[in-house]
Amino acid sequence: MKKKGKTTRSEVSKFVRGLVRRNPGEPEFHQAVQEVVESVMPVVLDNKKYQDAQILERMTEPDRIIIFRVTWEDDEGNFRANRAWRVQFNNSIGPYKGGMRFHPSVTLSVLKFLGFEQVYKNSLTGLPMGGGKGGSNFNPKGKSDHEVMRFCQSLMIELHRHIGEDTDVPAGDIGVGRREISYMFGQYKRLANRFTGTLTGKGLSFGGSLIRTEATGYGAVYFMQNMLGVKGDSVNGKTAVVSGSGNVALYCIQKLIQEGAKVVTASDSRGFIHDPKGITAEKFAWLKELKEVKRGRIYEYAEKFPEAKFYEGKTPWGIACDLAFPCATQNELHGDDAKKLISNGVKAVAEGANMPSTLDGTRLFLENKILFAPGKAANAGGVAVSGLEQSQNALRIAWSREEVDGRLRDIMKGVHDRSRQYGDDGKGFINYVQGSNIAGFVKVADAMLAYGAV
Ligand code: NDP
Repeated sequence: MKKKGKTTRSEVSKFVRGLVRRNPGEPEFHQAVQEVVESVMPVVLDNKKYQDAQILERMTEPDRIIIFRVTWEDDEGNFRANRAWRVQFNNSIGPYKGGMRFHPSVTLSVLKFLGFEQVYKNSLTGLPMGGGKGGSNFNPKGKSDHEVMRFCQSLMIELHRHIGEDTDVPAGDIGVGRREISYMFGQYKRLANRFTGTLTGKGLSFGGSLIRTEATGYGAVYFMQNMLGVKGDSVNGKTAVVSGSGNVALYCIQKLIQEGAKVVTASDSRGFIHDPKGITAEKFAWLKELKEVKRGRIYEYAEKFPEAKFYEGKTPWGIACDLAFPCATQNELHGDDAKKLISNGVKAVAEGANMPSTLDGTRLFLENKILFAPGKAANAGGVAVSGLEQSQNALRIAWSREEVDGRLRDIMKGVHDRSRQYGDDGKGFINYVQGSNIAGFVKVADAMLAYGAV
C-alpha cells in the first residue's frame, strides 16, 4: 500500500513537470491540473487502457484555442484595443459549454484553468455538455453602458464564427451578467441571422430560463444541504461566512437566509463587511439592489446598517462560523485562512467560486476532516441550469420557476451522490475533491477511449 502511494506521488510529480514544461508561465492552469491529477492518477495507474490511450496527456491539452483582438470606441471617440480568447477544451460528451469572463486579470492561464475545470464540472452534472471558457482582459468597471455594448458587439464579430447551439455555447462569469450576455446575443443573432440558444443567461423575454440568475448560489447551498444531510445535519441555525457580493455570493446568501442560516459577511475586492446580527431578508433586499441595480460597493452596507463593520483590504476568513462559502474568485482562501477557519470550528466549506482555495488550503481542510465541496461540484448548479436553458430553447418552451428549481435540486443531489460514490473512504469520511474529480474524469475518459485516436 505504501509502495502504491509512493508510485502515485512520483507519477503525479512526473506528469506535472511535463505539463509545466509544455505550458510555461501558466500557474493557475498548473494548479488546477495538479489537483485533478492527484485524484485520478490511482485510477489511471490501475487501468492500462487509460495509460495506453495517453488519456491524461490528451485531457490536459485543449481541443483548440481562439485568440483575437477586440477593437472598440470609447465615449470620447478614442479607439481602444483588448485581447480576447475562447478555450474550447473538450467536447467529448457534448458541445463546449462555459462562461465568458471580463476582468483585467484574465490571461490564457486563467482561462485554461477554468476551461479544464469546466470539463469535469459539466460531466458531473450528468448533462451532455463539454467544457470551454472564454473572456477578455477588458474591465467593465467604470465603463458606460454604451462602451460595454460596443465592446460586446465588437467581440462577437469574431466570436460568432466559432460558436453555435451544437458547437459551443458561452454564458456569463465574472464581469459578464445579463447586460453583457444580452448585448452579445443581440449581435450574434444579427450576424448569424438565426435565433437559437447559442448563449445562455439570456433575458427572460428572449429565451432565458427562470432560476438561471440564482442557480449557482442556490446550487452551492443545495450541495451543502446534501453534505450535511449525510451526517443527519442541515444548514438551519448555522452561522455562515460568505465572500464576494456578485452573482454567486448574492444568491448563496439569499438561499442560506431562506433555509434558516445566519449569514454574517459579504465582500468585494476592496474588503468585507461583518454584520454580527446577520443579514436579514430585508437587509438582503437592500444589498441586492445596491449590487445589481446601483452597481455599488460593499462598504456602503456598513454605512447603511450601523451594526455592521467594514474591514478594508481584508477577507472574511477570520470570522468564526460553522459554514464557509468562498464565492468571489480563484485563490482567495489560503492555507493561513484555512487554519483560522479550522481553529474557529468550521464544519463544512462549499466553494461557490472556481478554485477559491489554494492547494494548501484544500489539503488542510481534508487533513482535518472538514466536509469540503470543491467548486467543480458545489458550483455546478449554474452550468446545469444553463443546460436546462439550452433544452428549453431547443424545445421552444419555458418551464416554471418551480420546475427549474426542482430540476436544479435533483441535479445537485446527483452531483453530490456521484462525488460521494468515488470519495467515500469507507471509514466515515467523504473526500469530495477526490470523488468529484474521479466521477467527472471517468465519463469523459471513457468517451474519448470509445472515439479512438482523436
Ligand atoms: P461577479 O462578477 O458577479 O462577482 C464577483 C465577485 O467577486 C465580486 O464581489 C467581486 O468584487 C469579487 N472579486 C472579483 N475578483 C476579485 C479579486 N481579485 N479579489 C477579491 N474579490 C474579487 O462574478 P460571479 O459571482 O459570477 O463569479 C464569482 C465566482 O464564481 C468566479 O470564480 C466564477 O468563475 C464562479 N462561477 C460563477 C458562475 C455563475 O453562474 N456566475 C458559475 C460557476 C462558477 P468586485 O466587484 O470588487 O470586483
